[in-house]
Amino acid sequence: MLNPGISDYTCEFCQTGEHSLCVNYQLLGEHLPGTMAELVTVPAHNVVRIPLVSPELTWAEAAAFSLVTLTAWRMLVTRAQLKRSETALIWGIGGGVSLAALRIAKLHGARVMVTSSDDAKLAAAKQLGADVTLNHRTQKVAQEVRALTNKRGVDVVVEHVGAATWDDSLRCLKRGGRLVTCGATSGPQVSLDLRRLFWHHWSLLGSTMGNAAEYAEIVRRLGKGELRPIVDRLYPLAQARQAFERLSKAEQLGKVVVEVSSGRP
Ligand SMILES: [Zn+2]
Repeated sequence: MLNPGISDYTCEFCQTGEHSLCVNYQLLGEHLPGTMAELVTVPAHNVVRIPLVSPELTWAEAAAFSLVTLTAWRMLVTRAQLKRSETALIWGIGGGVSLAALRIAKLHGARVMVTSSDDAKLAAAKQLGADVTLNHRTQKVAQEVRALTNKRGVDVVVEHVGAATWDDSLRCLKRGGRLVTCGATSGPQVSLDLRRLFWHHWSLLGSTMGNAAEYAEIVRRLGKGELRPIVDRLYPLAQARQAFERLSKAEQLGKVVVEVSSGRP
């Protein structure tokens, strides 16, 4: 199994154990060639043995695990420090990071609200432990969240959408709340009224991937059966185009995996 974040292990951030803050940080498939290839070369630091769990992890699950789980773990545990009995709002539950965030939030004893524009995905999220589901196409999320929390708002908002959801994310955030973001898929430019930021004691937190200790921890939790990625569909390499089309239409619930070789261990 690969940790797709490549750091130099020499800069000042790496030396303090913060590998995803590395000044030379690069991601497979973003800054470096991706893993949709027959052969991939990575530093030994980035390779771990797939843990033995029952039922046994498939290659597709192992492939789907690292990036989204590491991202969601650092967001919720390290950055937002989500606590038992707190409430978290997670946007767009079809995505891999959101689903990993749901699992991690439930593992930490939080109450979790999730959104999607697709009722079928919301029903699936409910099966996976979501306490409240909101359809952001047909419902006013901020209004619903405030009503569901006695006008208080949520403790933590998990953001990766950006421009389209930012204002609502802030409307959902309680006094002293933490908003943690790892993405800007709908656009990177947002506005912020500084008076609301300081008056409400908000924390706005950025997060990307995670360090080696966090990766070791999620792999350990995978081995204990506490974290398991959700694979939406598996495509052979010859149908990779269809895999990308499924993503571009946002039809997936979980990770779309492309199998390069059907060879089994
Ligand atoms: Zn470094």
